[in-house]
Amino acid sequence: MINPYTAVVHEVSVISGIVNAVLEELEKYDVIKVSAVDILIGDMTMLGDEQLTFAYEVVTRDTLLEGSKLNIEHESIRVTCDACKYDGPVKLLESGDYTSHKIPVMSCPECGGHIEVVAGQSCCVTSVDIEEA
Ligand SMILES: [Zn+2]
Repeated sequence: MINPYTAVVHEVSVISGIVNAVLEELEKYDVIKVSAVDILIGDMTMLGDEQLTFAYEVVTRDTLLEGSKLNIEHESIRVTCDACKYDGPVKLLESGDYTSHKIPVMSCPECGGHIEVVAGQSCCVTSVDIEEA
């Protein structure tokens, strides 16, 4: 059983990194307001939308980003297998806890062999909607 507090702390640390990077970038512009920040989150990161949104509200308080909307886009996990040349999604298991996270099975769904993750690990900002002075 994962402690919900610990789970949110994980999201807070990720969001803090994103928010700091955005704020740093915004220093280059004469921004009066930020309306939205779009992020791409790979399903490998196991970050929950609700927790991310909550963390965003907390972390952006008293910053230029306060009140802006966080748009979360998901990147599906894609893997390749050397042994059988499989290329596609991984098998996902329901975690069964409160988060409704899906746990990726890190072996080839075709042959059970070793796989390499080629997509789904993203955790980045894709766009920021700003109003310049
Ligand atoms: Zn395989």
